[in-house]
Amino acid sequence: MKFELYNSATISAPRALIGAGRGWSPVSLKVRWAFLDHGALGPTVVDTGYGPTTYPSALAAYSVENGGGVPARSLALRVYANLFRARLRPQGQIDTVLANKGLVAEDIQRVIVTHLHVDHISELRRFSRARILTSQRGLNATRHAGWRGPLTHGTFTELLPADLDDRLEAAESLPAIVLPDGLGVGWSLLPNLVSLVPLDGHAAGQIGIYLHSERYLYAVDAHFMLSALNGQTQGAKPGKSGSKVVLAGLPRRIADDIGAAEVTLERLSAFQQAGGRVGLCHDPGNDPFDVG
Ligand SMILES: [Zn+2]
Repeated sequence: MKFELYNSATISAPRALIGAGRGWSPVSLKVRWAFLDHGALGPTVVDTGYGPTTYPSALAAYSVENGGGVPARSLALRVYANLFRARLRPQGQIDTVLANKGLVAEDIQRVIVTHLHVDHISELRRFSRARILTSQRGLNATRHAGWRGPLTHGTFTELLPADLDDRLEAAESLPAIVLPDGLGVGWSLLPNLVSLVPLDGHAAGQIGIYLHSERYLYAVDAHFMLSALNGQTQGAKPGKSGSKVVLAGLPRRIADDIGAAEVTLERLSAFQQAGGRVGLCHDPGNDPFDVG
């Protein structure tokens, strides 16, 4: 089985804002996505990172004017893109990575969408043949958010494929599995190899990827920085939910459910203490599964 993380873009964020300590010195966050491959699954990607749909290059803009493939963005998505000012990394873009493997987007059998924030679904519409595996609850919440979605949740339904419901696989419909090391109940994707783990709080229905043999959990956006996660999970103050950890900074401000996010962090803390390893989408350091 193959699990590889790629970095699609970087975002510069002030340290204090992302719960990474004091001061306003910038931290360069990554925007990862993953390539997962196994005979029983076929080529699969986990999220899409940022790409030209959210950050069109001059060339892509030219191709739009000439009837090319990159659709126009709504005003809200343009405002969002200007706010975060992500810098795309050509070598970490899905097309480039797949091409290096002799693949194109149409070869991808399944896209696992951990949650519906822009930096996870920017390029989702390009996978026209893939099944889309995500939380039904998260999808329902996004659809019901209406105009408030872009404003308060960073979710943009314009990035979802028009035929999503025909290709949807609900994570909740997979067989339930009790996971080791305090992770609780998840859903089995490949028995005893890969499971999905509910990580509520940051976004409705967020799911992580657990690799059994590696005792590794890709916990996506449960926090932005591993150091902040470790620092906060070592604190002893009770959080909103009565849990021992407290979510602070931007991660707290944008959380869909602060209490649920703190419970998730507490589970991650228990998992780490039991010897499990955690990876995050945006952590600036090196993840053991980083490839490019
Ligand atoms: Zn997110």
